[in-house]
Order: sequence, then C-alpha cells, then structure tokens
Amino acid sequence: MSSSSSSSSSSSLLPQPLKVGIVGFGTFGQFLAKTMIKQGHTIRATSRTDHSHLCHQLGVSFFRDALSFLEADNDVILISTSILSLSEVLRSMPLHCLNRRTLFVDVLSVKEHPRNVLLQVLPEVMDVLCTHPMFGPESGKNGWKDLPFVYEKVRVRDEPRCSSFLQIFESEGCRMVEMSCEEHDKLAARSQFLSHAIGRILSEMGIESTSMNTKSFETLVKLKESTTNDSFDLFSGLFIHNRFAQQELMNLEHSFEMVKQRLRKRTGEEQNLSKV
Ligand code: NAP
Repeated sequence: MSSSSSSSSSSSLLPQPLKVGIVGFGTFGQFLAKTMIKQGHTIRATSRTDHSHLCHQLGVSFFRDALSFLEADNDVILISTSILSLSEVLRSMPLHCLNRRTLFVDVLSVKEHPRNVLLQVLPEVMDVLCTHPMFGPESGKNGWKDLPFVYEKVRVRDEPRCSSFLQIFESEGCRMVEMSCEEHDKLAARSQFLSHAIGRILSEMGIESTSMNTKSFETLVKLKESTTNDSFDLFSGLFIHNRFAQQELMNLEHSFEMVKQRLRKRTGEEQNLSKV
C-alpha cells in the first residue's frame, strides 16, 4: 500500500477536461458528477431509471439507450451501479460496439468483484482502474479534503489519461491510497462492513436519541443513521461480494457470545457472594 499526500504540487493544478460517461446515475453517481461538472468535465449518463429531467438541470446528457451511450466518444466510462447489479448491467451492454480505447473505472465499495467482472466482460484493449472513494454524499458534503480515495491500476496502458482521471480526486484534496483490490476487501470487511453491520443491528433495535445522551450513545445514533441512509442493496453487496465479510460476521457473533458469557459468569459470582 502506498499513500501520496494531497498537498503534492500537482494537486493544485486543474484536471484536464475529460468526457466521462457514468453508468448508474443513482445517489453516488450524481454526487460524483456534480464535482466533475464543477471542474469542467463533460458528463454523460445512462441508468435503469429515466434520470433525464435531473440530467437536464445538471447539464448532463442522458442516454436511455446503452448503444448511443457507448458511441458517445467517452474518454472514461465510470461504473456506479449497485454492487449486486454490476454483472447484469455490464453484460447487458453491447461493449463490443465500443469504437475507441476507453478507461473503465468502477467506484464500487468492494473491489475484487468488479475487477474480476471488468476483466471478464471488457475487450482486452480497454484500460481498467478499480477505485473506492471512501466517502459519500453525507461525509463529503463539505468537500473531499483529506478523505481517502483507494485505487488499483488493474490494467492501465494510457497513463496520462489515468492520471487525468485521478487528478479529479487529487485536486479536491483527497488522500490518494494505492492498494490492491484484495487488500482493500480485507481491510474494508474489518472496517466498513463491520460498521454497517453494527449500524443495521442498532437500527433493528430501534435506538433513538434521548434527552440524556452520552457522547458514546450519540456516536451510536449517528452510526445507525449514516449506515441506514445507504441502500440495503449496498449493505448486501458489501457482504455478498466481499469474500472476507463472512468471517467478520462470524467474529462479531463469536465476540457477542464471549461478552454475554463473561457477563453471565460475573452475575453468577455476584449471586454466590451475596449468599455467603
Ligand atoms: P446503490 O443502491 O448501491 O446503487 C444505485 C445505483 O445502482 C443506481 O444508479 C441504480 O440505477 C443502479 N441499480 C440498482 N439495481 C439495478 C438493476 N437491477 N439494474 C440496473 N441498475 C441498477 O446506491 P449508490 O449509493 O448510488 O451507490 C452506487 C455505487 O457506488 C455502489 O456500487 C456503491 O458501493 C458505491 N459507493 C457508494 C458510496 C455512497 O456513499 N453511497 C460511496 C462509495 C462507493 P437507477 O438509478 O437507474 O435506479
């Protein structure tokens, strides 16, 4: 893993204008598009849902038809579909019709799965960059400075184009972290999946803010809110398509059992003492 500081001299340069086609124009695709538009890039989008009205307001060209989208001369095609639908979405696109070498970038919150799917479905001449911006519309609403951007150059031959794309995030001050997809998934199962799982458990318990919150309890309420703001599809994807998540769920269950056992043991000891 290597990390390059956001304060490098190149980070203050404005990114080269790129033509970026976004596949999956949901919450996260829209969020990324707004910053790219602000930076002067040309954005096109295609999605299952008709987002043409919103796209018109944002100055984004919306394509209902995947073929016209692919023929729109994109420098970069950015995949921002749900983790669960990625394979179906890509396999339904006429990718063989692409008439120019394009950089494919995914922003999914798991990394081995999109890397494998992209390498399977794309013509060999296409470049592949797997990324995970580790922030979203809530955590990134006041800017992206110092927020981590994880990436692996899986198959990159056109380095200048890839650098121009990465510059979108560098120039916003992101902390750029180069890491293999496997390493990402290992770490994300321990951090992101775990926090989402605990947030979902707290939501099942129906925890709510009270008039006597401690700081720790406020943290739990915030965790519940931030994780349940994301779709259940996203949470399911973090589990189903990260091979390290199953182990973390078992660790969570085991640790919960251990804590219960210790409490029961201690309760027994206290009861015995009170009988003496
Ligand atoms: P999401 O629920 O993970 O994905 C929503 C997107 O997937 C929408 O564009 C939706 O299309 C598309 N989609 C869902 N099911 C589909 C299907 N069956 N067929 C075709 N398209 C389908 O929510 P999200 O927050 O927008 O996340 C998008 C991606 O970004 C995910 O892979 C997520 O892991 C990643 N990501 C999200 C965040 C975040 O904070 N939200 C942060 C980093 C990375 P329509 O809009 O057309 O319905």
